[in-house]
Amino acid sequence: MKISAILLTLLFLVLAFADSGSDQSANRIWITDVMVVSPENLDHIEKANVLIEDGRIARVERNQNAKTPAGATVVDGKGQYLIPGLIDSHVHLANVPGMSFDQSQGKQEMVERYFKQLPLSYLYFGYTTLVDLAVFRPQVLADFRQAPLHPDLYDCGGSLPFANGYPMSFLPPAIRFKPFPNFLYDAKQADRIPPEYKPEDHTPAADVARVKSSGAICVKTYFERGFANDKNLPVMGPDVLAEIRKAATQDGLVLMIHANGFEAQKFGVDGNVDVIAHGMWHWGELDKSTDLPDEIKRLLNQIVEKKIGYQPTMQVLYGELAYFDPDYLKIEAISKVTPKELLEWFQSPEGKWFGNEVNEDGDPGAAIINSYEHGPLRRVRQVVAYLASKDANFIFGTDTPSAPTYGNLPGLNGYLEMKQLQKAGMSLNQIFRAATINNAREFRMESQLGTIEPGKIANLVLMKKSPLESVDAYDSITTVWVHGKAILRENLAINSNR
Ligand SMILES: [Zn+2]
Repeated sequence: MKISAILLTLLFLVLAFADSGSDQSANRIWITDVMVVSPENLDHIEKANVLIEDGRIARVERNQNAKTPAGATVVDGKGQYLIPGLIDSHVHLANVPGMSFDQSQGKQEMVERYFKQLPLSYLYFGYTTLVDLAVFRPQVLADFRQAPLHPDLYDCGGSLPFANGYPMSFLPPAIRFKPFPNFLYDAKQADRIPPEYKPEDHTPAADVARVKSSGAICVKTYFERGFANDKNLPVMGPDVLAEIRKAATQDGLVLMIHANGFEAQKFGVDGNVDVIAHGMWHWGELDKSTDLPDEIKRLLNQIVEKKIGYQPTMQVLYGELAYFDPDYLKIEAISKVTPKELLEWFQSPEGKWFGNEVNEDGDPGAAIINSYEHGPLRRVRQVVAYLASKDANFIFGTDTPSAPTYGNLPGLNGYLEMKQLQKAGMSLNQIFRAATINNAREFRMESQLGTIEPGKIANLVLMKKSPLESVDAYDSITTVWVHGKAILRENLAINSNR
């Protein structure tokens, strides 16, 4: 009796297994007659059929007479363009755009709705891989990875600020250490570091080891003397960066530095970082120079020669300007990626609080926009144009959201960043490579991502226009595949009836 029951169970298991094995229609997709736009063949875009099998690209068939593989679901790609899923290698998923942490605490329902939509908003604009640069609420990332549909998510673990420096400095001294368990100890500031934190636990090596053991793929640190009310913040010396560099290399982690000025980027270049996580909008004493100064050109040449990954993150500045741009909240796509209640709150007086912080003196909006356009935006555009002329190693990253601004909304911010990069002088070809193969290579994922080639993960985007002909193509998406699972774009928008 017992034995026959076991046999029956075994038989049942075998049948169940055989059944799932033969059910290939669910696992096989055949995209036909599509223009394949992939970084390895940008100079000869061709029509092809692409076979997806079990979540991977199985075949790119250029013979137009190829037969439909048995049991495959056919997707007609005629007249459309297929590209690798986009990669945004600079996001901060736990921050809610437009809200301070305290505000978000009081608006639980609104915030929950936002986080539920978050992965879909990135997919809506074709982002199938993200890198979070500074984990400080791991639960948000865990929930993101548990969502039924979500981009692949990698992270840099908890970041490495210098003791009492940026961005710890945003918090009052009494509570600024706990949220930054990987801060770097500074013996000179021993009197400003609570005694429970021991120097030996906060050396570069100890911090990087913790980042590595958290499962991170990168390390993020900072060189920032501050701005607005927080100037003259403590910064690390080259000796500290050298130790971080050594430990990151040993652990196989990509070293990224927050640096948005000439001095800071020079510090990063001298310390051989892998990625500079911002554009150079501060030139220090050279700020007023209308031409790109020679000493900055020399530094940019080094960035090109050393193939340092460069993220201009121009939307950081536009994120601050959004409060003074009367057209920003009218962008149609905002309602696709933002829950209705949150969007209504953005439009309320309370929801505009961050704009008042940016504009403490209450200047007219047009004057603020003007000062940015002729100051930091002009400078970062000149830097981007120069780097583009040398075909630097741009890697696409948005820093979404870079501040508690509603001007940096998930997914949409990437699209706006691309428009700014083009305006600054990057070619469509450069923008495309930055968001695909350059990112994949920088983060050592090029065997899995970044092109449409057999064996790679089937993270793909189908669009009506060619991304090599207009930047608007990135808003003409029709279908997104994540590990071979297809989702129509309309079903990723917040108002869809999922
Ligand atoms: Zn950032």
